[in-house]
Amino acid sequence: MNDFESLQLMPEILEAIRDAGYETPTDVQAAAIPAALEERDVLGCAQTGTGKTAAFALPILQRLASGGFGTVARRPLALVVAPTRELAMQIGEQFEVYGKHLDIKHVLIYGGVGQGRQVQALEEGVHVLVATPGRLLDLMGQNYIYLNRMQVFVLDEADRMMDMGFLPDIRKIIKVLPLRRQSMFFSATMPKKIVQLAEQLLYDPVHVDVSPTHVNVELIDQRVVFLDFAQRKPFLAQLIKAGDVGQAIVFTRTRRGAGSVADFLKRNDIDCTVVHGNKSQNARNQAMEAFRSEKAQVLVATDLAARGIDVDNVSHVFNFELPSEPEQYVHRIGRTGRAGAQGIAISFCTPPEREFLREIERMLGFEILPDAREPDPLPAPESTTLNPSPGERRPSGNRRRRRNRRGGRRATDRPEGEQSTEETQENARPTAAQRKAARNRRRRGRSKDD
Ligand code: AMP
Repeated sequence: MNDFESLQLMPEILEAIRDAGYETPTDVQAAAIPAALEERDVLGCAQTGTGKTAAFALPILQRLASGGFGTVARRPLALVVAPTRELAMQIGEQFEVYGKHLDIKHVLIYGGVGQGRQVQALEEGVHVLVATPGRLLDLMGQNYIYLNRMQVFVLDEADRMMDMGFLPDIRKIIKVLPLRRQSMFFSATMPKKIVQLAEQLLYDPVHVDVSPTHVNVELIDQRVVFLDFAQRKPFLAQLIKAGDVGQAIVFTRTRRGAGSVADFLKRNDIDCTVVHGNKSQNARNQAMEAFRSEKAQVLVATDLAARGIDVDNVSHVFNFELPSEPEQYVHRIGRTGRAGAQGIAISFCTPPEREFLREIERMLGFEILPDAREPDPLPAPESTTLNPSPGERRPSGNRRRRRNRRGGRRATDRPEGEQSTEETQENARPTAAQRKAARNRRRRGRSKDD
């Protein structure tokens, strides 16, 4: 299947696809669209960047447009649930693009902003509702949304929903879905709980597997730099200024880390912006806009905030800290090397992160080669910045001890999405528990369901 015409899509949709400049369907589109057009359920193992949004959006648009359905206040015909506001917005944008020649209305429902406009749009009537779970349940509870007309349900990035603690919300939503419906379920990874959820939701689904490790990882030039904690910020700034870096995303594990790295880069005259879960929706939108429009060269982000970020032309991804979950590594580096472009991913690895690196390499099935460049040795390991900002200074012994007694790092020091306080460490060093978990996984011989 190598062109959109052969997918039996309606002329208005084909025209929109041509306008968008797409030439060939991606693997997930070629596999999922025909099945979805036949109103089959779909179980897609695919991450952002594979074209999965169009894989569900095009059949939804076609189904609703060809059925000639009108809208009814508060009763959408299709519901797409996504874990983050950013992802919901990107899905909304894609509905806009593919539906530009159709009369299909959609609305975005997400938290962190007032509900007034969202409610107004629901009252006016929409075909497609794209929502994050919390606000969706909230508005359902207020009787602004009824699902009795709903024909198509999509659960996007199910594994991320689980990581973010949304499973109970999702179960509540699934319970009130009409029995007669088409469901599509997308997840980048398929751990046991996600498989169970899919089984609960789907009926005789068509399986579409474009697992991340086979999608774009080979297109990305991956390198690792072994260094010490204190060398990371100056070396990062050095790499970004080296000349070959266009738009770049820097990943940190914690919100605090993200803020501190961004501050350092700014002080070193690098235009940069930051997104993490503590920022208001407006601040996150502004940050994304600055990055998209290339006013900011660098986006510093935590995993959760960056989830699903879809920006073309990202030349480099820097892993300032390695993720403790190998799958997360693939999500991160998948931000570069999009749509066939060659991307570069450079990961920093400090001594306690070696376990994580081994895990990642095991999953990839190859060793990540060291970058040819090496950081300068630091005269004094603690003085990484010429002018450290107050938030960046290492806490005094007393402050450290006090914080330890209180039970650990502050919320912003913890990997985003992590619920419990673990070991107190500066600079988001991997916690003992995380390292132990990585060791155990290795010992057990990691299975896909881990
Ligand atoms: P997604 O995985 O849905 O987030 O899509 C990733 C990016 O690929 C988006 O920017 C889409 O606009 C783009 N895209 C989706 N399908 C295609 C295609 N068939 N050809 C080229 N680009 C595409």
